[in-house]
Parts: sequence; C-alpha cells; structure tokens
Amino acid sequence: MTQAAQLERLYINGKWQNTGKTFAIYNPATGELLAEVADGGKEEAQAAIEAAEAAFGSWRKVKAEERAELLEKAAALMRERVDQLARVLTLENGKPLAESRGEVTIAARFLKWNAEEARRVYGRIVPSDPHRRVLVIKQPVGVVAAITPWNFPSSMITRKLGPALAAGCTVVLRPAEQTPLSAIEIFKIFDEVGFPKGVVNLVTGLRAAEVAKVWMDSPLVRKITFTGSTEVGKLLISQSAKTVKRVSMELGGHAPFIVFEDADLDKAAEGVVLSKFRNAGQTCICTNRLYVQRNIAEKFEQKVVELTLRLRIGNGLEQGVQVGPLIDSRSLSKVEEQIADALLKGGVLLAGGKRAVGEEFSHGTFYEPTVISNASREMQITHEETFGPVLPIYRFDTEEEATAAANDVEYGLAAYVFTRDMGRIFRVAEGLDYGIVGVNDPMPVSPEIPFGGFKESGLSSENGLEGIQAYLETKAVSIGI
Ligand code: NAD
Repeated sequence: MTQAAQLERLYINGKWQNTGKTFAIYNPATGELLAEVADGGKEEAQAAIEAAEAAFGSWRKVKAEERAELLEKAAALMRERVDQLARVLTLENGKPLAESRGEVTIAARFLKWNAEEARRVYGRIVPSDPHRRVLVIKQPVGVVAAITPWNFPSSMITRKLGPALAAGCTVVLRPAEQTPLSAIEIFKIFDEVGFPKGVVNLVTGLRAAEVAKVWMDSPLVRKITFTGSTEVGKLLISQSAKTVKRVSMELGGHAPFIVFEDADLDKAAEGVVLSKFRNAGQTCICTNRLYVQRNIAEKFEQKVVELTLRLRIGNGLEQGVQVGPLIDSRSLSKVEEQIADALLKGGVLLAGGKRAVGEEFSHGTFYEPTVISNASREMQITHEETFGPVLPIYRFDTEEEATAAANDVEYGLAAYVFTRDMGRIFRVAEGLDYGIVGVNDPMPVSPEIPFGGFKESGLSSENGLEGIQAYLETKAVSIGI
C-alpha cells in the first residue's frame, strides 16, 4: 500500500480494469504518495451502467435469502480484515486508527442489517370492493448510482450498497477522489464473495462531474443516492429531474448541542468533545454549535476546555492519537477563515486557534482543536457548515430561546440535547427541526436508527426500517374476480 508506484484499478462487469489514466492518492498526515488509481471518465461511467442494467434482470430474481448470504459473507470478511481495512482508511483519510476500526466495523454492520432486511420486504393485501382483490407489492427500483464522500470512505458505501443490493438493485459507485482505496478494498471483498458480474461496479476517478452527468442523463439509472455537500446535492437533484429518478440525499449538517442547567455536566462535556472533534470535526453530524444555559456556562466551558486541551493530535497511525489532520489544505483555509471572522466579531479564544506546530506536523494538514466562547449570530461559523475542529459556544436563558437558535439554520441533520428533565426531553426533541436527535447521547448512529436530514440536509433516510424502502418501488395489483 505504501509503495509509491502501486496501481489500483476500477471494477466494471466483474473485471478489474485500467483506463490509461491515473491519479495520485496522498496521505494527509505525511504528504506521502500512497497509490496511483485508475481515473475513470464518461466511457467507464457508461460501461458501468450498461453492465448494471444487464445484470439487473437476473439479480432481481435471485432469492432474497441468497442475496442476503452474499451480503453476510462480505460483512464477515470486512470484520475479519478490520485491521487491514482500517489501516488503508487511516492512510488515505487521516482519521485515527481507532476511529477507522470503528468505521469499518459499523460498515460491516450496515451490510449485515440490510442482509437481514432483505428477507422482510413484505407487501400487503388491501380490503377493497367485493368484485376485486388488491395486492401491494414491492419491487427493486433498478440500477442505482451511488456517490460517496471522503469523510467516511467505508461506511457511506455500505450504507447505500447494503440496502440497494438487498432490495435486488444493481449498483454503480463513484467514491470521493480523495479516498478511493477503501472503496477498492470493499470491492475486492465483493469480488471475492462472488456477486454476479455487473451487480456491483466501481468507477474511481477525478472527474466527478463528468461521470455524474452520464449517470444523471441516462434513463438506465433509476435512482441516485448521494452523500456529500448540500451544494452538490442540489445540483444532482436538478439533474435527476430530467429522467425523474428516485433520489436519496444525505447532505450537509450544522449540529447544535444544547446543555441545560440540570444536565450531568461531566457526561455532557465528554459528549460534546467526542461529537465535535472526532474525525477532526469532519463529519456531517459533528457538533458545530454549543448552546449552554447561562447560569452554568462558565463552569461548563471550563470542563470543555480542559478536555479539549488533553486531546492528542498527530498521525492517525500512532497509538493514542485522537485528532488527525484535515483532509486537505482547502479545508484548513476554511477553518482559518471562520475562526478569523469569529474573533473579529467578538469571539474569545479559549483553546487552539492555530495550525499545529512541530516537526511531526510539518508535512500534514493539522489544526489544533479550538474552542471559542462569546459566539454570536453574526458570525460566519453560526450559519455556515463547519468542517473542522472548531467549537463556538453560545449562551442562552430559556428552553424556547435555545430551540429557536438551534433551528435558525438551513440545515436539519443531527441535534443533541443534554438534560435530565423528562418533560423537557420531549418538548425540545419534538421542537427541533432535525432528523436525528441525540438526547444524552452524543453518538446516535447504529444500523437500526434511521439516518436522514430535514430541510436542506437531505431527502429520505438510510438505515432503520426506512433504509431498504428507499430502494423499492410500490406496485398496486388490482385483480377483478
Ligand atoms: P462534496 O459534495 O464536494 O463531495 C461529495 C462527493 O460528490 C464526492 O465523491 C465528490 O467527488 C462528488 N462530487 C463533487 N462534485 C460533483 C459534481 N459536480 N457532480 C457529482 N458529484 C460530485 O462534499 P465533500 O466536501 O467532499 O464532503 C463533505 C460534505 O459531505 C459535507 O457537507 C458533509 O456534511 C457531507 N456529509 C453528509 C453526510 C450525511 O449523511 N448527511 C455524511 C458525510 C458527509
């Protein structure tokens, strides 16, 4: 893997292929060249959907139990190879090895959950007029195009391909250009367990818009499932209109974390630091805005700062490292811009506030975990998604004020509330315009929990009972008797 000249290929119609062009993948912690990867464009994009279309006719007829067995086998191999897969993930993405192991493990659990769901795609019989019987049946949508981001290079793939394959769909996948190696490892497993040719296809490459255009224009593709920024999501939604594709969008987030005076403050402080700084703040459900009730604010800020200052920054491969590098220098610049703006508008720096200094950080994109108090509505960071290790803290007086401030953004993915008041738990959880609410729970992610956003954070949910439904069409059969 670390050999500079290693060449990785893409996978179409059951074959590993070169394209004549390659692109380079670098380790964000060291700047080291990790591999050259086949760069697929419109020809490969078209070949992939043709292979998927050709395979769909027979794959949809494979017994659900057999589809489930293949997914179970793939999940088992991922678990067996967790160390190797986690290492690849850390090398290309930078996140600490412990987080990578966690991601690969949950990625395998997504496959397993959907394997279980494959056998429970029930229809129904509906009472109707005496002269007819009505059946409602579920059928796979068809060829699915999946586009995934770099921040969860393994789990975003299985969260889409798991339910799609379980439902009987065939798939073409384009992983993010920063992290194709994890996708390639997963496809090696798909190949090994023996998915029939054309059922799963992988187009790696630099040319995102070119590949997406082929898929979005083609009537062969019946569904687009995307995780990434709201900006690109909107573009894909508009492109999908031309052929009225089914759409699942998991887009940006800007999670509020509300701490009330009656909360267990130690647990809340640990929760917010975990939720904010994992993956160096680069997850769509990372806490981005911390709202603290005024009378406990000072004490709580101190606890958060103490925990933040203890975080160890470094190369994710090193034992004990908790915060890795940002994915690239563009992300670093965005963080710096947001912090400069916040400090200009009255923010008070309590921790961090600069790039990590030292020889070990000199080739990577490291930024110190940063805490800023006295944050306000006027700051850029209050409205723009933060994708980095920066925590702005706001103070509030009442429940209504906290809920309104939390809702005052265009996003609605995850929100967190820490309180021990039962009535307040229900009032606030119901009042938040968010698809996922963690109450005294900083990590509300598991295969059985639906994951989806309100407002500009997305369309439809992944995981839970809802996961597989997004890959099924509903058909009514009315039989005259
Ligand atoms: P991005 O939208 O730039 O990239 C995501 C994917 O889209 C990548 O594979 C990229 O190559 C591809 N892409 C870029 N331009 C494209 C185009 N014109 N047409 C088709 N595909 C295109 O997002 P990013 O900055 O790389 O990833 C971070 C974003 O993802 C954040 O906004 C984050 O909140 C979001 N995210 C959301 C979830 C969720 O479940 N809601 C999960 C993880 C990340």
